[in-house]
Amino acid sequence: MINEKGAELLKAAILKKYKNVELDSVHSNEEEFYYEFKVQDEIGENDLEDLEKEINKLDGYIFVKLLRISGVYFEGNINNEMITRISGKAFESKEELAEYEEFLKEAQERDHRKIGKDLDLFCFSDYLGAGLPLYTPRGTIIKDELQKQVEKICRAYGFEKVSCPSLANIKLFETSGHAQKFNDELFRVSSPKGHEFVLKPVQCPHHTQIYASKLRSYKDLPIRYMESDKQYRAELPGSVGGLSRVYAITIEDGHSFCRIDQFKDEVINMYNIIKDFYSKMGLWNNYWVSLSVRDLNHPEKYIGSDEDWNLCEQVLQEVSDELGLNAKRCEGEAALYGPKLDFMFKDALGREMQIPTIQVDFSTPKRFGLYYIDENGEKQTPVMVHRAILGSYERFLVLLLEQFKGALPVWLSPVQVNIVPVNVKYHDEYCKMIKNKLDDEDIRAEYTDNDDSLSKKIKRSIEMKNPYTLVIGNKEIEQNMVSYRKLGSEEMISVGIDEFVEMIKNEIKNN
Ligand SMILES: [Zn+2]
Repeated sequence: MINEKGAELLKAAILKKYKNVELDSVHSNEEEFYYEFKVQDEIGENDLEDLEKEINKLDGYIFVKLLRISGVYFEGNINNEMITRISGKAFESKEELAEYEEFLKEAQERDHRKIGKDLDLFCFSDYLGAGLPLYTPRGTIIKDELQKQVEKICRAYGFEKVSCPSLANIKLFETSGHAQKFNDELFRVSSPKGHEFVLKPVQCPHHTQIYASKLRSYKDLPIRYMESDKQYRAELPGSVGGLSRVYAITIEDGHSFCRIDQFKDEVINMYNIIKDFYSKMGLWNNYWVSLSVRDLNHPEKYIGSDEDWNLCEQVLQEVSDELGLNAKRCEGEAALYGPKLDFMFKDALGREMQIPTIQVDFSTPKRFGLYYIDENGEKQTPVMVHRAILGSYERFLVLLLEQFKGALPVWLSPVQVNIVPVNVKYHDEYCKMIKNKLDDEDIRAEYTDNDDSLSKKIKRSIEMKNPYTLVIGNKEIEQNMVSYRKLGSEEMISVGIDEFVEMIKNEIKNN
């Protein structure tokens, strides 16, 4: 394997250049290779280019690209000391290497961290620490619009919004099984007054308690709750970065409590929601479905009886067949409590991301003693169907920003119309009038009234990916019109103000 050779070459180059290398090991897979080691000298990002040159001199038949340098714990254990890891990728020809470098350039341009900074959507602070993204006003608009959109679709399928606190007694997660199975990923919160809480890693147990707050009849089911809120996972320090892996994730989560004769239809409903939402986002292509089932060799990884598991797996298979999903059976990928249908999307650069999911669960309702009264007046346990449509807002934003290179559709753009006067001195009043008009119509407008030149203001508006830039000068004022330029086009079009407002409103509504 070419990466294996790449790793050996990197090792040779390091041993040649540095003295007293310790704790070293080489690793490779089909994608990449890396070499981990400890050395006294300081090695940084700037040394990679030289190292790369060294390596490429060692063997005339292998071409290596070094990708990154990072600090990792020796043997991945948080109690061990930090050592250095250099990762790279090896190629058999110069052409392949050149192609890959082109790909990296494109990836950099699409990198959500760069787009997020350029478009002022989110930021990080050393005071808070890594893995804790802060959404700016512009980023918050996108997040809120996404939430409105997904909730609108889910409401049409009978979902109702609920709201739960971030903290809970550990007992809640002991009952759900999360405390035992995901102990290492729980943030524990204590106070000098003796409180012992857990920051919620999932919403499911909370939702069961809203269900349990009232007596339920078979006629009340399905009962469907949804919530977009923060969840907390104690990821390995060093593994967090950008929005892709964070400690505080905002999850769009939902659960349906239903009868056993209803859960198949519920799964189909959830599929329809996913289809509606991703079609609306222009992302309903480039995906495949995984039917994630148990690993029969490791029953200790799951909760619940074999009988329940068999039924759930069979029903999901039926749904896949009936809807023509062609789900690929992936053993060992099931959730703690049941099998699931996972939807895997390819991002703009061909990397795979699992986002929406539908999971069937017979166990959790039993563990919490949930019930409803059936037609004979008997107590019955409901089935719980978990689903995430948008999944984590952070991960979804990565997909979205990289897919559209930051140029979002009008309904999702933080600023929908940017108003630019030819000369602030003369055109200020008219621009303000238009801004007020757009505000009244709930169109997000921004008026750029600084002293920059006209061309600079237009350039800035395009850089910020504003879908519409209005340019206002004497002609527009005399004729009571606006002239606009649509993102991606250089054409300037003049229309009446009301006509423009109607056009934008329609575009927002129908998008
Ligand atoms: Zn859940």
